[in-house]
Amino acid sequence: MNQVDYLRISLVDRCNFRCQYCMPEGAEIDYILHQNLMTQDELLTLLRQVFIPAGFTQFRLTGGEPLIHPDVVDIVRAIAAFPETRDLSMTTNGFLLKSLARDLYEAGLRRINISLDSLNSEVFDQIVGSRGRSRWQQVWDGIQTAYQVGFNPLKLNVVVIPGVNEAEVLDLAALSIDREWHVRFIEFMPIGNHDLFRDRGWVSSEDLRQRIRAKWGLTEGQVRGNGPADVFQIPGARGTLGFISQMSECFCDRCNRMRLSADGWLRPCLLNETGQIDLKTGLRSGVPVHELRQQVLDLLALKPEINFKLRESGSISGSYSRTMSQIGG
Ligand code: SAM
Ligand code: SF4
Repeated sequence: MNQVDYLRISLVDRCNFRCQYCMPEGAEIDYILHQNLMTQDELLTLLRQVFIPAGFTQFRLTGGEPLIHPDVVDIVRAIAAFPETRDLSMTTNGFLLKSLARDLYEAGLRRINISLDSLNSEVFDQIVGSRGRSRWQQVWDGIQTAYQVGFNPLKLNVVVIPGVNEAEVLDLAALSIDREWHVRFIEFMPIGNHDLFRDRGWVSSEDLRQRIRAKWGLTEGQVRGNGPADVFQIPGARGTLGFISQMSECFCDRCNRMRLSADGWLRPCLLNETGQIDLKTGLRSGVPVHELRQQVLDLLALKPEINFKLRESGSISGSYSRTMSQIGG
């Protein structure tokens, strides 16, 4: 059984993008009210007094878009300073990275994943819902800045959508050749935009690998913090290619993570809310931290069973009412 020591922390459920596959323009989203968001103090108290003593040592900041949180640099600095922190990373859309990359690095962040679904600015803008203002160049500049500042590994996340960015798979894979960039292809899941999923479908990792293999060949690769990704490499490339295949292969039995939402709910699984705990309300209503810790330990004890049930039910086929941005993808 995997040790569950990795917490994905959603700093905020809102976002400055409207990606078609996540929170498309016009979708009705039940945003968390400001007063229900965890404060920085509440988050750090939970980490220091509940999660770290419960064995968590690896943290990823995500969202929504974590870089729109006004205290993101201070939060990074505080988490990086915990002696128990073994790993701290972030997933971002990169739009605000150009101005924040250096501060984040100096605050102690070393690993970053940036979403980049297209190299074509028009397609990119269409995917992220640019609202009349092109966003591609600013994201690209953010990626370059993060690379220059020294983030390593620097990973680029691509959700492949048939008929939208599928034709760019080889161009995106080629980004891993000359630079130490790690491109990760994520299978599109029926979370967020069910109409798009129904209309477009999804492409399997194996299908993508075959196309890449036919052009360059592929060998097995390695990169730090690969989590659920299967890692490969174009022969001679400086970076790697990762494939996250939650649709075609169930990796629940390898899962070592839990998710903390921006309003303080701890969820044992992306797709299963069994046993979830409202830690922020507990904290606000004066439940002693040792009791909250025990609740977390009890949920940890349930996790193998939750993973097992999901694995037994086969690959992801249902549809999920929450978006990745709400759960903390
Ligand atoms: N805003 C940040 C970003 O986009 O990188 C962090 C949050 S976002 C929810 C985290 C990851 O979830 C992104 O890599 C995004 O591509 C992925 N994601 C969102 N909706 C998805 C879906 N329906 N299927 C697969 N991946 C999805
Ligand atoms: Fe925002 Fe990330 Fe969702 Fe895109 S995938 S809408 S950037 S939270």
